[in-house]
Amino acid sequence: EFVSTAMTMKGTRAEKDAPALSQAELNKQSMQEVRRSLPIFPYREDLLAAINEHQILVIEGETGSGKTTQIPQYLLEDGYTNGGMKIGCTQPRRVAAMSVAARVAQEMGVKLGNEVGYSIRFEDCTSERTVLKYMTDGMLLREFLTEPDLASYSVIIIDEAHERTLHTDILFGLIKDIARFRSDLKVLVASATLDTERFSCFFDEAPVFRIPGRRFPVDIFYTKAPEADYLEACVVSVLQIHVTQAPGDVLVFLTGQEEIEACCEMLQERCRRLGSKIAELLVLPIYANLPSDMQAKIFNPTPPGARKVVVATNIAETSLTIDGIIYVIDPGFCKQKSYNARTGMESLIVTPCSRASANQRAGRAGRVAAGKCFRLYTAWAFKHEMEETTVPEIQRTNLGNVVLLLKSLGINDLIHFDFMDPPPHETLVLALEQLYALGALNHMGELTKVQTSLSWYKCSEEVLTIAAMLSVNNSIFYRPKDKVVHADNARMNFVVPGGDHLVLLNVYTQWLESGYSTQWCYENFIQFRSMRRARDVRDQLEGLMDRIEVEVVSSQGDSLPIRKAVTAGYFYHTARLSKGGYKTVKHQQTVYVHPNSSLFEEQPRWLIYHELVFTTKEFMRQVIEIESGWLLEVAPHYYKSKELEDSSSKKMPRKQGKTKEELG
Ligand code: ADP
Ligand code: MG
Repeated sequence: EFVSTAMTMKGTRAEKDAPALSQAELNKQSMQEVRRSLPIFPYREDLLAAINEHQILVIEGETGSGKTTQIPQYLLEDGYTNGGMKIGCTQPRRVAAMSVAARVAQEMGVKLGNEVGYSIRFEDCTSERTVLKYMTDGMLLREFLTEPDLASYSVIIIDEAHERTLHTDILFGLIKDIARFRSDLKVLVASATLDTERFSCFFDEAPVFRIPGRRFPVDIFYTKAPEADYLEACVVSVLQIHVTQAPGDVLVFLTGQEEIEACCEMLQERCRRLGSKIAELLVLPIYANLPSDMQAKIFNPTPPGARKVVVATNIAETSLTIDGIIYVIDPGFCKQKSYNARTGMESLIVTPCSRASANQRAGRAGRVAAGKCFRLYTAWAFKHEMEETTVPEIQRTNLGNVVLLLKSLGINDLIHFDFMDPPPHETLVLALEQLYALGALNHMGELTKVQTSLSWYKCSEEVLTIAAMLSVNNSIFYRPKDKVVHADNARMNFVVPGGDHLVLLNVYTQWLESGYSTQWCYENFIQFRSMRRARDVRDQLEGLMDRIEVEVVSSQGDSLPIRKAVTAGYFYHTARLSKGGYKTVKHQQTVYVHPNSSLFEEQPRWLIYHELVFTTKEFMRQVIEIESGWLLEVAPHYYKSKELEDSSSKKMPRKQGKTKEELG
């Protein structure tokens, strides 16, 4: 049940705007007419003049005004790609880079991958002819390694700047730096209507070009009392809208794939039960791992008489614009990463989103006509329980990889790097300490050559596989709700002694022996897409090994060298069995083996964990059994023998959590 409040988002409507168009009318018009109908179009000449005049320009515009799809085309039409120069446009999300590139190729009437292309990790859809290149912010960062001055680009657009992803924030500093000596390079920082003054300030008072949005009023409704189960509340709200409200599509914001799939299933199930009593409801999910043909479906026009409901992660907040949305359902949550530099604990938990996010979400309802936003929380919660804005990712993440990348670019003094918002000092220090302990940095903080150590343990073949499997991040095993028992049995069949790293190796090896079979994955409750990605990562790593001339050798079934190699790489992630659980060796923090681990019951005395995550408890995910003596062997500079003394010679009694049987 909802209460309407006095809080209505004011609609602003620019004089020059064309009236809103229905989907049917849109379809009839040519692409060029559609382009001319976008809010950005009347500003085309002014925008090009401003870009011509200023080296760095901040561009602010409502989501859907045409920034991402139109600005690169305007620049191309204005000659910025003459002489074989490229225009690069970064996106924080892979899906957005792919989808927007496809759209622009379609508008220009060219084949995707020719003049217009995209580049995301493991997928380079560009060619010699590509002049408009959409890419993830992470990919542009990598390009700095091969082209430190980005000489092949005439324009760099840092899009969705307000998202403040880790990679975007690093790009800010790097691009600001190269712009100083590449006076011919144009830099555009594009953002939704958030924070643009801060961007201007960071880029030495660069002017802000504002594109007035076409925004219709959105009525906002809150619940009277907090919702106990927001997934259920979403489903009920969608159905209520469907049966009581005027035509118009619905957009629901959830936090991740699992929730989205559950919500879609529930909606489909209830529609099936209602049968012909209700009009057709098209239920479409969108999240990062959805196959691209399924992703494209959300843009298909809704057939007359039916209603479309798109169930999305916050990718639909600003990165993608779906035409025809009139109703937004916002449970007010997002999945957020946080990092504790003192303990090295990472967590990815569902937390209330910020007020800024909630307002962006509501705005999605007012693009084509007056809309409604149903917030599944109280007006009080909006005011008192939500943060004003989202904290930039750089301030809540592990910086190990970024430090390595910056060091490879020759940036040694990270403390004085030009950060828009600097990361916490202790996060930076911890990253530096770990890289130093690993021998990746010398005592001057400079990168060392570590390849020699890679060949010590004579098991690079297996370690490559393990590294690749770990990188796909806990999405190997598939556990559908209706087949939990079968899935768990299938998983148990992969267990080998020694720990999870070896289990992952076993899964990969069996998959390889099956001829990388899809059917094999299906039968064993293994996610094929994750495996394919692991194979891509593995191929890439193998290529790198080849480049630095490290031989790929196998330990021939002996797990000892593998466990030692993992110890050499992760010795700072050691935990020792202790009363009621484990204690990390360096920080004496109490942690637990994750119930999904193959070592959950065994509880060996010494463990190396791959990651520490907080969900319901402080869990170690992906653990491997080691001997404490190895630590002195591989990291004598890090451990003193006193720290590694065993207090008793017998195994501690097991006291942790539930047994597997109890968990079902
Ligand atoms: P902005 O970057 O300002 O948020 P965009 O350039 O992404 O705006 O979007 C402009 C218009 O292009 C929107 O009306 C949007 O619906 C449409 N559009 C963008 N991508 C696609 C796509 N893949 N399929 C269909 N329409 C799209
Ligand atoms: Mg955009």
